[in-house]
Amino acid sequence: MTSQDGGLDSQGGLPLPRGSALLNDPLLNKGTAFTDVERDALGLRGLLPPRVFSLDEQVARAMGNFRRKTEPLEKYIFLTTLQNRNETLFYRLISEHLEEMIPIIYTPTVGQACLEFGAIFRRPRGLYLSIRDKGHIAEMLSHWPTTDVRMIVVTDGERILGLGDLGALGMGIPIGKLSLYTACAGVHPRYTLPITLDVGTNNESVRNEPFYSGANQPRVRGAEYDEFVAEFVTAVVRLFPRALVQWEDFGNTNAFRLLHEYRSKVCSFNDDIQGTAAVALAGLLGSLRISGNRLRDQRVLFLGAGEAGTGIADLFVAAVRDEGLSVEEARSRCWFVDSQGLVVKSRLSTLAEHKIPYAHDHAPVATLAEAIDAIRPTALIGVSGSAKAFTQPIVERMAQLNPHPVVFALSNPTSKAECTAEQAYTWSQGTAIFASGSPFPPVTYQGRTYVPGQGNNVYIFPGLGLGALVAEATEVTDAMFLKAARTLASLVTNEDLEKSRVYPALSRIREVSLAIAVAVANEAYTTGVARRPRPAHLAEDIRQRMFVPEYRSYV
Ligand code: NAD
Repeated sequence: MTSQDGGLDSQGGLPLPRGSALLNDPLLNKGTAFTDVERDALGLRGLLPPRVFSLDEQVARAMGNFRRKTEPLEKYIFLTTLQNRNETLFYRLISEHLEEMIPIIYTPTVGQACLEFGAIFRRPRGLYLSIRDKGHIAEMLSHWPTTDVRMIVVTDGERILGLGDLGALGMGIPIGKLSLYTACAGVHPRYTLPITLDVGTNNESVRNEPFYSGANQPRVRGAEYDEFVAEFVTAVVRLFPRALVQWEDFGNTNAFRLLHEYRSKVCSFNDDIQGTAAVALAGLLGSLRISGNRLRDQRVLFLGAGEAGTGIADLFVAAVRDEGLSVEEARSRCWFVDSQGLVVKSRLSTLAEHKIPYAHDHAPVATLAEAIDAIRPTALIGVSGSAKAFTQPIVERMAQLNPHPVVFALSNPTSKAECTAEQAYTWSQGTAIFASGSPFPPVTYQGRTYVPGQGNNVYIFPGLGLGALVAEATEVTDAMFLKAARTLASLVTNEDLEKSRVYPALSRIREVSLAIAVAVANEAYTTGVARRPRPAHLAEDIRQRMFVPEYRSYV
């Protein structure tokens, strides 16, 4: 398979380095697993201790070292160092221990890692494009060591998880997301490129940190920012024409604007808006299998009317329209409470554009508790970044109103969650269908064990990206997210539902990603946005392209 035919497992066709250069190439390095024959042929003898270890033995050793670290941030640093030394071992380790590792390489630990990204810096990964380098972006992209980049995750660090503006410290997010593309969907690490657009930060405490690594200036806005992003997009399209761009953790004014401006100019999507939407919709679809209700009969109240909330509502509307409702009818099922209270028509003149479709005719309502009484929602979705906002009276009221209230506390990291799993189950007397953004352990309440689902975007974006890459889609359409959500929901088993879990076990993520990739690629072929000819056996074709962390022989 070559990189020319859309293969996603290529080693890039580059000549193999020798000796210490080979040991220093994390994509090729096998460390102590180089065989005697390879050591002789590749100038490695003496550069490694004599005993040859198998990959399994290396995994066991690395796992021992990982578990010896007690602090999650120490574990994160250990994994980062391993990734920079030996990517095959890194991916094998995380693939075999996904449920233990994902909370380290991604939420919640990655949030803490970003906060301390300057202080824990070891070696750079990805590209830093600074506003000070405006006018030279194409040249800087050409410094990247490979030319066949297929998957870019880019942030400007303005809204990192629920932590806000972290400036260039946000680089931990593109790195982490791309690791998940490889671990969860088998996108070859050689094709991935993390990028930070460093346009400054308005977070003074970040700027004043002794080890802050970004431009020490306030965030650039307006025309200068827009020109910078436009230059970036133009350069990507020219240098990496097959690349899919994931816009990640932009502040919400830029996030919506950039998505609308560029989604037809460069194959791209915004995970915070669209990926979140698909994973939350899948959770809602899963909850209907417990409650026995129809999607069109739901009344969803969102706490938080930002990227996540309105993104979920937009996809919910698309899904409900499939059930025969008009856009207006579908929108009337979605209500929002933001920091100013219920989003209603009388607030129109001051509302951000993305909230306007959901400003309904209703008297002003100031608080979430009053909004619940007024709207009587079937589902309450927290995407506000406002910790502990789902109080005992709120959850109890939801349980009075519904036999199976949906309570999703999606704000990340764990410290920002609107309520914990234990609170949701206990306060609803075991009736709530709960999901969260960050993981919570199982809860036993009155003799029954509940396994809270994690509405983690990782269920969606790796498979969606893989499907778009394999088809070489020219654009990522809304219908692809709907397909991804429905596919994810269809993979929830009856055993999952018995434990009140509305997502499949994370251990099934590669199977989930493959199924989503097939659905998304199919959609690309059906709607004519695929550039690569359709293979005879799509699922098998995609499965074979998935990167498997194994050593190959070099001699
Ligand atoms: P955002 O900044 O775009 O929106 C936040 C919204 O919450 C704004 O409308 C703001 O007015 C509102 N808000 C803030 N404080 C509030 C309060 N006290 N009461 C009511 N509303 C309040 O952010 P976003 O991208 O929408 O993300 C919001 C949260 O959702 C974050 O914590 C993020 O981590 C989480 N999130 C989770 C997932 C997931 O679990 N899969 C995915 C994306 C985002």
